[in-house]
Amino acid sequence: MAKKEFKAEVDKLLKLIIHSLYSHNEIFLRELISNAGDALDKMKFLHLTDDAFKSEAFEGRIDIHLNEKEKMITISDNGIGMNEDDLNDNLGKIAHSGTKLFAEQLTGDAQKDSNLIGQFGVGFYSVFMVAHKVEVITRKAGSDQAFKWSSDGQSGYTTESAEREGHGTTIICHLNEEHVEYAQQYRVSSLIEKYSNFIAFPIFLHYEEQ
Ligand code: ADP
Ligand code: MG
Repeated sequence: MAKKEFKAEVDKLLKLIIHSLYSHNEIFLRELISNAGDALDKMKFLHLTDDAFKSEAFEGRIDIHLNEKEKMITISDNGIGMNEDDLNDNLGKIAHSGTKLFAEQLTGDAQKDSNLIGQFGVGFYSVFMVAHKVEVITRKAGSDQAFKWSSDGQSGYTTESAEREGHGTTIICHLNEEHVEYAQQYRVSSLIEKYSNFIAFPIFLHYEEQ
């Protein structure tokens, strides 16, 4: 298992996100759904353009599993997935300019900063507003090796090899005590409705009847 520090700017961004966006913490789900949609778009493109993938049937989908008892929400896609380098590059530092620009424009004024949410994708790290531990299990299309990335959003992250059937990414969020609502069907189904407008793939919600 490899243990790595976040790049310094990630650390700063995490703190900024948590402090400025906390009252809108539901947007973590928008960000995770939008990342899953992006990964599915990339997979679909590969499937259409790359001979190595043309023969494979591809039905892109997002599956969201809720476990209220365990305080967990899991977002899974069968998109392009990530290899170990991708994990370090994409989830270990701020790769995306939108996120960086967002961090630069934050003022510390809650009202002003909350208006910035609509203008920038604030990204994967927003999940740490609601979760104290996040595990990412992912396998890149074309590879037979899967990896697990794990972090508490504070003390860096670890990567190790893992098992995953098929390509794609599964994000397991261990919710904070005060955010159990995101493991509840009525809350999550309305958020999915709110945030799935621009996603070209079906989203399936799985939960146990209470
Ligand atoms: P952005 O989506 O704006 O690039 P994010 O912080 O949301 O920034 O995500 C960072 C990067 O992590 C993405 O660009 C992508 O490379 C990778 N990533 C996140 N979620 C997934 C996923 N479900 N499947 C594949 N890659 C992902
Ligand atoms: Mg994103």
